[in-house]
Amino acid sequence: MNFRDRSRRFLQGRYGNDGLNVFLLVVCVLLLVTAMFFRGTVSYILRGAALLVLILNFLRTFSRNREKRARENAVFTRIISGVRSFFIRQFNRIKYIKTYRYRKCPGCRNHLRLPYKKGTHTVKCPKCGKSFDVRL
Ligand SMILES: [Zn+2]
Repeated sequence: MNFRDRSRRFLQGRYGNDGLNVFLLVVCVLLLVTAMFFRGTVSYILRGAALLVLILNFLRTFSRNREKRARENAVFTRIISGVRSFFIRQFNRIKYIKTYRYRKCPGCRNHLRLPYKKGTHTVKCPKCGKSFDVRL
């Protein structure tokens, strides 16, 4: 059996790569870059943490428990999409500051984009239908 067959057999049924693994690699690189700015114990701790993160990445990549790894990635994706939409919302608040204002619905906490007209307006939430007063 040559190397190609052996590596193919080794990788058969393994989980592989996903978004969480990419994130773990980024964390590993960030820890190593941060470690360059320190000396002594702090540098050792940061490099050790980077090594642990890298080991975790390898264990996830070559794991045979594919369902469990997929569930971990689903939780990670849910968290990251929430963080991402928060930053996109903040970016849009600044980008459209002259034309829109963003408010939260008191009924369902849905984010509403309202056209900017000074004064007090009655707004009806398109998601839950609750009407409330907004001062812009
Ligand atoms: Zn609502």
